[in-house]
Amino acid sequence: MNVRKGSTVWVPDKELAWIPAEVIDSDGKFVQIVTDSGKKVFVSAEKLCPRDADEDELGGFEDMTRLTYLNEPGVLYNIRRRYALNDIYTYTGSILIAVNPFTKLPHLYDSHMMEQYKGAPLGELSPHVFAVADASYRAMMNEGKSQSILVSGESGAGKTETTKLIMQYLTFVGGRTGGDDRTVEQQVLESNPLLEAFGNARTVRNDNSRLVDKINRSVGQDINSPMQIGVLDIYGFECFKDNSFEQFCINFANEKLQQHFNEHVFKMEQEEYGKEEINWSYIEFVDNQDVLDLIEKKPIGVIALLDEACMFPKSTHETFSTKLFQHFRSHPRLEKEKFSQTDFIVSHYAGKVTYHTDTFLDKNRDYVVVEHCNLFSSSNCPFVSGLFPPLPEESSRSSYKFSSVATRFKQQLQSLMETLKSTEPHYIRCVKPNSLNRPQMFENASIIHQLRCGGVLEAIRISLAGYPTRRTYSEFVDRYGLIGPEILDGSYYDDKAATEKILHKLKLDNFQLGRTKVFLRAGQIGVLDSKRAEVL
Ligand code: ADP
Repeated sequence: MNVRKGSTVWVPDKELAWIPAEVIDSDGKFVQIVTDSGKKVFVSAEKLCPRDADEDELGGFEDMTRLTYLNEPGVLYNIRRRYALNDIYTYTGSILIAVNPFTKLPHLYDSHMMEQYKGAPLGELSPHVFAVADASYRAMMNEGKSQSILVSGESGAGKTETTKLIMQYLTFVGGRTGGDDRTVEQQVLESNPLLEAFGNARTVRNDNSRLVDKINRSVGQDINSPMQIGVLDIYGFECFKDNSFEQFCINFANEKLQQHFNEHVFKMEQEEYGKEEINWSYIEFVDNQDVLDLIEKKPIGVIALLDEACMFPKSTHETFSTKLFQHFRSHPRLEKEKFSQTDFIVSHYAGKVTYHTDTFLDKNRDYVVVEHCNLFSSSNCPFVSGLFPPLPEESSRSSYKFSSVATRFKQQLQSLMETLKSTEPHYIRCVKPNSLNRPQMFENASIIHQLRCGGVLEAIRISLAGYPTRRTYSEFVDRYGLIGPEILDGSYYDDKAATEKILHKLKLDNFQLGRTKVFLRAGQIGVLDSKRAEVL
């Protein structure tokens, strides 16, 4: 970044990820900064991120897109400031970020609150899980389109609580308020013909491999109705010290969902541009199709090669890995682990993951023998027979036909994606603020990691590819009017025309004028701010 003495910045920090600081000296390339705690350090200018110090005073923005600098530390500290005030919800556009408070906040969820969110347009009231539930309910009622609410996050992040709150709210708006002691879920299912269809959240692993029901949990049940609100509770991206076939499947599922998410974010951006009647053909679409191809493409992809290896009795994980490296020698998303002959690394959207292949073949072959399956499904014990529904006739006849775990996982994921694509999605990203499950503890580094895995930073990247800074004309003139006082002279001026003149005065041309807002490319606000600082 372009820094000068007095600039307020973010500096990377080993422990806290980012810390606020101010530049005290700069030769352009190297700068001396003083951190908030008074420590003076030299750093390379390119490691710094711009920071709007005025925002420190505020309790945080309800929507991340309001940030002056939409960068990683800005996002992190915005959530942090809000969390400190128990404002656990924040929007990034239409995505809701929910930070687990690890303490009861009853006032946040009482019937008065639910009443307030009923019918209120998204963004009008403070960010809330009820707002998302309400938006999906309204969209289903008004547009007749099925909705899905995708709730993701790591274990303990608050997915179950969030899901329960969604159901509580939908029961409230859509159903009769029962004075009986049935569970909320039962009430939702029974209360309203439309909401009877609540659920149908098909799970990836639960429904399929019986990508061990760890990643997803389905809520509700599948009742045939044309309109549904499905809640998908997704176990997030995994990256451990030892990652095996299970992590590979989970991360494959997360890549798929990430692609769906990216498409949605991109579409929302386009819609916003469309509403403001500006040209959106300038936004580039960032995609993860290359990772998905690497994993699932036929005839050459990780799964296809794995299946092939599993079909030949002589294959070992060594021969599988060798083949993999031969085929993808120069693939930007795949590399060989330096200190191992057989481990491979995939550059996922959320980061690099090293997979040990030693059990890949066995785990991929770990399918249920058809005869065994038939035996279990005829069991008199309903629990056992429920676990093994009868196989379709075709597959029971060809009992020796090979169907790998990975391939079945891929097919089921495909059908989940088709279901999702027929719905309008809503995203809730749950964040676990600390590993001790304590209130008011905010661990920066782990939260950044979760924001990355949950695609929040990716959403920001997509928005940065377009015109990430939006200000209404009056907001713009209020803040930057002093750059061109002569433009504002006179008893009457038009905010839109004044905005344009100010931008022209600074010779900026990377902007678009919408109906009610000006849209600026990334970095432009920095130029405006330094000009403003000069004249202040
Ligand atoms: P997950 O399903 O993601 O593993 P949970 O929903 O079970 O996580 O949340 C873990 C714990 O955190 C809950 O038992 C609850 O105590 C607390 N918690 C989560 N969300 C909230 C919330 N919105 N308000 C209060 N406590 C919460």
